[in-house]
Amino acid sequence: MKITNAEFIISAVQPHQYPSDALPEIALAGRSNVGKSSLINKLILRKNLARTSSQPGKTQQLNYYRINEALYFVDFPGYGYAKVSKTEREAWGKMIERYLQNREELKLVLLVIDIRHDPSKDDVLMYNWLKHYDIPMCIVCTKADKIPRSQWDKHKKAVRTTLGASSQDALVLFSSETGMGREELWEVLAQSAGI
Ligand code: GDP
Repeated sequence: MKITNAEFIISAVQPHQYPSDALPEIALAGRSNVGKSSLINKLILRKNLARTSSQPGKTQQLNYYRINEALYFVDFPGYGYAKVSKTEREAWGKMIERYLQNREELKLVLLVIDIRHDPSKDDVLMYNWLKHYDIPMCIVCTKADKIPRSQWDKHKKAVRTTLGASSQDALVLFSSETGMGREELWEVLAQSAGI
């Protein structure tokens, strides 16, 4: 995929702020610091379009990036912040669930997991939501450069087991550091978005 244009569009707090041009949307979910911003930047080959610093207190914004006038990346707020209150957590859950339930433009969710660690309870919750609403997903195990190649399979298996994922669920090994998995992931994205 040749990237000719990539721009930040909006941090949407309310559904009426979501874009209305009906382009396909690919959402990214994962815990804070998992590497979602780095993943977006690597996919579009920009150093800094997506902000690579965690943003506490921004638990209710969906960040929209438009790529090649052809699709949107929708970056969900990272979950798992220790300091987030119960009220904020609930508001986060409501916003995400409403989006997952109603957003026709949503074509695929990337469930981003740090290959080094077992998925968290929130990752499992997200996985179950996606299954429940029958939303196509691709598990992306990032930071692959941080463990030796000889351990990749073991870690991939552990991720699938903890999520309760089947062998049908797509899984891509990725590294924002080396670019590993970039082409493979673009193939998945392009197919899901129908571009
Ligand atoms: P976000 O909070 O999910 O958006 O996470 P960031 O993209 O800001 O990444 C969190 C930290 O992990 C940063 O210090 C990144 O440089 C680092 N990081 C992200 N992806 C990778 C990766 O694939 N490999 C390595 N080695 N570091 C990564």
